[in-house]
Amino acid sequence: MSFQLSDEQRAVRDVVREFGENEIRPVAREHDEEKKYPHELVQKAATYDLVAPGIPEEYGGAGMDMLTEAVVTEELWRADAGIGSAIGSRGFGTSMIRKFGDEWMREEWLPKVAAGDAATCSCISEPAHGSNVAGIETRAERDGDDYVLNGTKMWITNGTVADVAVVMAKTSPDAGHRGITAFLVPTDADGFSATKIDNKLGIRASDLAEVVLDDVRVPAENVIGAVDEGFYQLMNFFADGRTSVAAQAVGVAQAAVDAAAEYANEREQGGQKIAEYQAIRHKIADMATDVEAARSLVYRAATHVENGDDDTAARFASMAKLFASERAVEVADEGIQVHGGAGFVTDHPAERFYRDARITKIYEGTSEIQKNIIADRVL
Ligand SMILES: Cc1cc2nc3c(=O)[nH]c(=O)nc-3n(C[C@H](O)[C@H](O)[C@H](O)COP(=O)(O)OP(=O)(O)OC[C@H]3O[C@@H](n4cnc5c(N)ncnc54)[C@H](O)[C@@H]3O)c2cc1C
Repeated sequence: MSFQLSDEQRAVRDVVREFGENEIRPVAREHDEEKKYPHELVQKAATYDLVAPGIPEEYGGAGMDMLTEAVVTEELWRADAGIGSAIGSRGFGTSMIRKFGDEWMREEWLPKVAAGDAATCSCISEPAHGSNVAGIETRAERDGDDYVLNGTKMWITNGTVADVAVVMAKTSPDAGHRGITAFLVPTDADGFSATKIDNKLGIRASDLAEVVLDDVRVPAENVIGAVDEGFYQLMNFFADGRTSVAAQAVGVAQAAVDAAAEYANEREQGGQKIAEYQAIRHKIADMATDVEAARSLVYRAATHVENGDDDTAARFASMAKLFASERAVEVADEGIQVHGGAGFVTDHPAERFYRDARITKIYEGTSEIQKNIIADRVL
């Protein structure tokens, strides 16, 4: 198995890197401090095919494979995790529409998302049910030709900026994971409301909300896929999502290495650059090695996801997410250490990398859940 990127993938990486360096990085601190959603940058990113790059070409997307998508994610997060998250999650939930939605759903929403003109969100988690998706309480009850949805969704990325939501709701409440259905819910539907959560530790440019569904009525044709099959449909994308989060972790960790190396080559103590002290050299060597190891796992997971070997993809995606996210937080922590006191304040981005990296251990399944998944496949 080769981890060599193709010429095309390297070209995509170079375009995203240039976009990140020229457009994203200069405004990263401002967006973090002001918790500002990057509307204009999302539009610009769309012109480079960086918004939901996996959307097929026939629906106006770039049709990138999973490995190329991972490279895009990594570079966006290397430039800035918060803005990278806003761009990268713009089409969150579109995988469900792509794979299980009816043709009218694909035609209506995918071109708009790819063009940067619409955002989607994926409403799975609830205040009382995060890791245990099967426990969700949001209900969808059939009423004539419609379904009526009631419930509260928590920690919803894009909640206040999305135009349409993919909502997981119980259609057979006593059937556990066998009673969940996916619904396409326009966010301007009566009874749909979103309240922004803006006291986040990191990725502050990205939108997060609590979503309430209060007697939201949608036609039965808005069922995505099959009734009561939503949980199984969702399982199809966890490997993709986890590989993406692992790529996010690699991106922010690489940014921490870059910043630490740059600072070490500038900062002098005791009459020499701190980069000449073995303690600092070894720290940076360890950081760089961790990032490369994580990147290798991400590429491997992406390749398995692309090849469609579900069980192997699930195992590698969980391993990649676990390893990359845990290492990213450690690498960002060491990045602060290399900066000394300067790493503890917002004058340098080192502290932001640390705050931003932290989310990768939590969403798309916590590190503990990844270990459960890996153990199930090893034991
Ligand atoms: C910034 C952000 C963005 C998010 N975006 C979205 C989104 O767009 N859509 C969406 O639906 N959700 C989203 N989430 C929710 C995210 O997926 C959940 O927070 C995550 O799955 C954990 O669920 P929880 O917060 O309820 O924690 P809990 O499930 O309550 O977990 C608490 C602790 O218990 C541990 N734990 C729980 N169950 C087990 C178990 N079986 N074995 C071992 N340990 C266990 C966990 O690992 C964790 O350490 C987002 C969250 C954040 C913070």
